[in-house]
Amino acid sequence: MDEKAAPGGLEQVRAFVNTWLVPNDTRVPEDRLPELVADPARWRAELPGVPPDPLDPGDPGDLGELVRLREALRRSLGLERPVELDGWLRRHPLRAEIPADPDAPPLALRPETAGPIGHILALAAEAIRAGQWARLKACPDCKWVFYDHSRNGGRRWCAMTAGSPYGRGCGSIAKVRSYRERKRV
Ligand SMILES: [Zn+2]
Repeated sequence: MDEKAAPGGLEQVRAFVNTWLVPNDTRVPEDRLPELVADPARWRAELPGVPPDPLDPGDPGDLGELVRLREALRRSLGLERPVELDGWLRRHPLRAEIPADPDAPPLALRPETAGPIGHILALAAEAIRAGQWARLKACPDCKWVFYDHSRNGGRRWCAMTAGSPYGRGCGSIAKVRSYRERKRV
């Protein structure tokens, strides 16, 4: 398993926010959503579990709303109380449900509408309630979103090191700077 993966359904939210990314080779920001919205097969491959948009897959209005949701989620990363999502939950209400399945958690939040937006908001709401949301963070260097599994929740960077296949070395410039500052003191 990917060590940066989030627990449970929150991993679907992580995959969704990472449809905007800065690839390591080009370092030019890339938005995967237009391609995924136009191609349900690709959508299912890259966003497993997230229902494709049931409306018009090529409708730029729907795409715009998805992009705005992704931006709101990215601005909310790392926050214990992501108040910006309140407006989204008003527009896409959830209902509480007590699943009959004895293996499921005793209370579940479900979207009232079909499609990706309500689905993603329900998963985000579950994570906020479970106290997991604040551990979903964007790396300040490469913007990749990861789940912080560290004991104290203090991880800042995605921890791609220079020796890894990605070779990014995120956080190393800041670490060198703070090392020099400590030395100066
Ligand atoms: Zn990074």
